[in-house]
Amino acid sequence: MRFNAREPMPNPPVTSPEPQPATRRQQGATAPPPRPEVVEGDYRKSVELALQDDVERERGIRSFKVISGDPKQPYVALTFDDGPHGDKTMLLLDTLKRLKCPATFFLVGMQARRYPGIVERMAMEGHEIGNHTYHHYRLPLIPLEEVATELNLCRDVLRSILGVRTRLVRPPGGEYNAAVQRIIELNGYANILWTDDPSDYKAGRTAKQIEGFVARDLTPGGIILLHSGVLPTVEALPNILANIRSRGLIPITVSELIQRGGGLLKISKVRISQTSAH
Ligand SMILES: [Zn+2]
Repeated sequence: MRFNAREPMPNPPVTSPEPQPATRRQQGATAPPPRPEVVEGDYRKSVELALQDDVERERGIRSFKVISGDPKQPYVALTFDDGPHGDKTMLLLDTLKRLKCPATFFLVGMQARRYPGIVERMAMEGHEIGNHTYHHYRLPLIPLEEVATELNLCRDVLRSILGVRTRLVRPPGGEYNAAVQRIIELNGYANILWTDDPSDYKAGRTAKQIEGFVARDLTPGGIILLHSGVLPTVEALPNILANIRSRGLIPITVSELIQRGGGLLKISKVRISQTSAH
């Protein structure tokens, strides 16, 4: 696991009265296993996600998972992971408002619990909110029942703030396997991955670089992975949006992208309604 000191992510809430699971384990008789938190730089590459998708399709595995919108339609989705991060996220929201750009935020439950007002603001300003687990653990590395717990804890925090639950989840780092995918679906979620990762979380990334990577990889139907606590990303946003719009593309939320999606997404939608019936 690589660590990056610039933006340790996500920061546990300093004032949180809730002990972390590792602490609870340490109080028990058995030694705690290493906690598999995803930190910056651990994200899977877009090409790896696409390859895994190819393999799954070759094997006839159909799941409610979205790695892209419809490439024949002029829409893209900007997604921001890991927040809220206090003032940095407020600045991001100010910028999105000024640019009239709806986005999708995949929130970490313990961060949402720390900043409920920011979560409310996101919803009030037309952004979509998805589940990014409670502790930001690498889901394939923890027991399956804990995968469900991670989703449920985050769901409960978001529901207590917003009054509704989300149907979107993004596994930390984009890490999932068949068992994790099944838990995601059984809990009524779609697994939302991405097409473009400009690696805005990497130390030393400049706004110019971030905007350049987004421009280089931008395609219709793209889902762009960005992060909520990164100031160069906020700085890059005006040019990112100008580029998106100059190519005739329209930024929309992930759910809208799914609703406007093509054949694969329609198959997936059927699948989730079947799964939800169990
Ligand atoms: Zn994340």
